[in-house]
Amino acid sequence: MTPLLTVEEHRARVLAAVSALPAETVVLSDASGRTLAEPVRAAHDLPGFDNSSMDGFAVRLADVEGADAGTPASLRVVADLPAGSSADPSFGPGEAVRIMTGAPIPAAADAVVPFEDTAGGLEDSLGVVEVLHAPAAAGAFIRRRGGDTRAGDVVLAAGERLGAWALSAAAAAGVAELVVRRRPRVAVVSTGSELVAPGTVPGRGQTPDSNSTLLAALIADADAEVTVIASLRDEAGAIHALLEQAHDADVVVFTGGVSAGAYEPVRQALSDRISFDKIAMQPGKPQAFGVLDDGRLVFGLPGNPVSVAVSFEVLVRPALLALQGRTVIDRRLARLTASESWTTPPGRRQYLPAAIDLVEGTVRPATAGGSGSHLAASLARAEAFAIVPAEVSTVSVGDPLDVMLIP
Ligand code: AMP
Ligand code: MG
Repeated sequence: MTPLLTVEEHRARVLAAVSALPAETVVLSDASGRTLAEPVRAAHDLPGFDNSSMDGFAVRLADVEGADAGTPASLRVVADLPAGSSADPSFGPGEAVRIMTGAPIPAAADAVVPFEDTAGGLEDSLGVVEVLHAPAAAGAFIRRRGGDTRAGDVVLAAGERLGAWALSAAAAAGVAELVVRRRPRVAVVSTGSELVAPGTVPGRGQTPDSNSTLLAALIADADAEVTVIASLRDEAGAIHALLEQAHDADVVVFTGGVSAGAYEPVRQALSDRISFDKIAMQPGKPQAFGVLDDGRLVFGLPGNPVSVAVSFEVLVRPALLALQGRTVIDRRLARLTASESWTTPPGRRQYLPAAIDLVEGTVRPATAGGSGSHLAASLARAEAFAIVPAEVSTVSVGDPLDVMLIP
């Protein structure tokens, strides 16, 4: 019997076949979920000028030093600076300028006194202001030009995913167009003559096709585009026809039909074009992967729904992210402690659907049914995969485990 490939060996083969898709330029509003192909550099200093962090008064520190409730400092308010004003009013000793948050600090000022530290507050603030509490030091309540980032500094690195925080950073740094990778186009193909569409009452021998729905959602979550969804009967001819139909996909993901049964259409149709292997993982032992002559990546995942979910995380999602040039292609891991015991198949790394408590730092099987790879409905109770090393056959309460967090 040929030895099983380790997960790492198989993954390395998959990732070696992946190179990043071409870059394209998109506007901010089209960039959500994309991956940067080039770093984003600030177009200007941010903030662009020294400005006030409070509503109050721009002052000369020397005029208010030592002021307190018993000995307030009185200043004449000679100008008013709303946010958006570009004015730089001059003012002399004993004078102040009313200023709102975000307005530019006048050159003559070296501190801001917030309304809260004055007698009158906002009321009557355009006449004379009584300062009841001196600013701690020069620069008080002043946000400095370039304090967030400087013109030309890298704000976002190539390979970063553009989520809301990253997109807003680009916007703040004055960058409206971003160079990103094209989204991978993915065809999702379920195989199985037993499959019926969700919502159809399955007759004897039939089962709902849940893998198509599972994969379509996972692929969208991985920021790729599902261009074809098909459910095929177990006929090799249907596989060939589908591959023609999905000619402009970057990736084709089959489920089912890759193992050792009599009716394995993916294996029958593609055994001379991609490789079929046994991997030391549970679930997900039979795996097919290869690159077609035209460059399309083809995954043949086993049919059981939990096997599909695991295979996607371990193999397909990293490949989809690598196609996008993503720097981080793996889910986050947490080190948690088992709060229940369970047994695992020896010689294969287990990915067990798990429930976690991140406050307690614990992990346990998501279902009492154990690791059954057919438990499609129970999968909804999982929020992570507990990863049990191949050489471990029993997980005991208190054992530390790496756990793959699925957001
Ligand atoms: P296979 O790998 O084709 O032998 O399928 C293994 C098991 O997974 C069988 O019980 C199938 O009925 C089931 N299965 C295969 N494809 C799907 C699918 N698209 N949705 C739900 N279950 C499936
Ligand atoms: Mg099948």
